[in-house]
Amino acid sequence: MLEQKYSGIKASAGIAIGKALIYQRKEFQIPDRQIAEGDVVAEVERLSKGLKEATAQLEQVHQQALENLGKDEAEIFEGHLEILGDEDLIGEIRGKIRGELVPAEKACHDVYEANAQELAELDNEYMRERANDVRDIGKRLIHAVAGIKMVSLAGQAEQVIVIAEDLMPSDTAQMDRNKVLGFAIDKGGPTSHVAIMAQSLEIPAIVGAGNISSKIKTGDMLILDPASELVIVNPGEKSLSYYRKRLEGYRQEQVKLSGLKELSAETTDGHQVELCANIGSEKDIEGALRNGAEGVGLFRTEFLYMDRSAMPDEEEQFEAYKVIAEGFTAARPVIVRTMDIGGDKGLSYFDIPQEENPFLGWRAIRICLDMPEILRTQLRAILRASQFGKLRIMFPMVISCREIDQLIEILQEVKEELWEKHVEFDESIEVGIMIETPGAALIADKLIEKVDFFSIGTNDLTQYTLAVDRGNEKIAHLYQSFHPAVLRLIKLVIDASHKAGKWTGMCGSFAGNEEATLLLLGLGLDEFSMSAVNLPRIKRLIRGVSYAECEKLAARVLDLSYSYEVREQLKKYSSKVEL
Ligand code: PEP
Ligand code: MG
Repeated sequence: MLEQKYSGIKASAGIAIGKALIYQRKEFQIPDRQIAEGDVVAEVERLSKGLKEATAQLEQVHQQALENLGKDEAEIFEGHLEILGDEDLIGEIRGKIRGELVPAEKACHDVYEANAQELAELDNEYMRERANDVRDIGKRLIHAVAGIKMVSLAGQAEQVIVIAEDLMPSDTAQMDRNKVLGFAIDKGGPTSHVAIMAQSLEIPAIVGAGNISSKIKTGDMLILDPASELVIVNPGEKSLSYYRKRLEGYRQEQVKLSGLKELSAETTDGHQVELCANIGSEKDIEGALRNGAEGVGLFRTEFLYMDRSAMPDEEEQFEAYKVIAEGFTAARPVIVRTMDIGGDKGLSYFDIPQEENPFLGWRAIRICLDMPEILRTQLRAILRASQFGKLRIMFPMVISCREIDQLIEILQEVKEELWEKHVEFDESIEVGIMIETPGAALIADKLIEKVDFFSIGTNDLTQYTLAVDRGNEKIAHLYQSFHPAVLRLIKLVIDASHKAGKWTGMCGSFAGNEEATLLLLGLGLDEFSMSAVNLPRIKRLIRGVSYAECEKLAARVLDLSYSYEVREQLKKYSSKVEL
């Protein structure tokens, strides 16, 4: 059989070699018939039994998610349980059975599908993803009503690489990382829930791989190489032995890299930078510490607001921030970014009007400044938690001095409120902003006068500088943080902060890109914040070079005209670094 290669999008790092398991939920044929009026009571009874069974199953999934993934990811299934128990939906299903004389399965299908359709038609990627969740719950209910057991990824006997058209969050949550070596799916983007969960579980994964699920059969030999964004089917002996070596090398490297944990990120000529982790919830604390994070450069608090039915109140937020402050202790500062909702991150319970350009629309602090109570609640919770460790506050998507004035004024009012109530908090808490737009970068010298630090969000800075949507697969080749325009803006920001005696970090994914490390170092970046798994590799690189050399390299590279030249130069230099 001929070796074949398919490409996709990297969702989670690693290498996997193993047999394919095509994961396909058997599509249940929805009965398309009428029932007799005399059967209505029995059908409604079947619905009630099915609801009980589906609830029990979901409770089990929730429990597994708690054990495998932690509290935050498991919360998704609390949301699923809420939907399943929604009296309005159940009432609608019963009404259909009685009014239209259809079997319980068909009534469930129609009600859930109509609901999912409504969500799927919204002009908001996040809500469209929620349509999948609703279908996921509907399918479970229909199977339960029909008394059919669903195929599950929990308790796989053999090690497999899962291949599917799509995976639901409940599928990923059930994966046992000792049995599921990796997965590749036709659908999904790198920021989908499935991708985020794969990273948490440290399962290698590829998403958006076209129609790969129709090309592979269960039992086919596969190699999954997320770094090259490749799935190799029926690999020849040459590929197999190459990847076996790489997998072995990867494992050995992981062991070696763990030895760097206690060492500082210092160049051969004594220039030190800070290496921090990006986190989304308390369950990321362990991984961050295990990989030697010196703190947190970005805590994306918006995850706290997602997959639930209302905004988290002050107490709930306080508890979450406190656990994180204590987890990292005062020795490891945590930058708490105020919620960055909007753009591609919507909330089911919060009405963001449909927008032509959500990324250019009502998001992050723009929402907070229009609805300051949301921000006040979050700031109160952060300030109260600040006495349990070392927290810093960071505002996203700032574009003007005026916005900073308004934000600081609100912060000041919240502080005064706490003083009046004799609530303790870190009174010297530092405040920074993210630099995510070319506009902000160009006036960095003015913005820095008002804050303690900057953190460059290259994910957004790249999309806004180059006018390239970061989530659009069609123009992904144009999304290039090595573009000279992006690099010049980065330099401008770092220089402006240094001139003012302050510092700049970076929490966009460029900070965790090994190809960019020497350049960023040479540009004078003070703090690098990234997915915790990338930390040891970046540290090793930094420890292998001289700062003086990197400065020269950065000056040379900044003078180039093409992104590819920049990358070539950097690669050439990096390959000479002794690791
Ligand atoms: C960024 O824009 O680089 C960033 C870190 O923020 P997010 O990815 O959450 O938009
Ligand atoms: Mg951003």
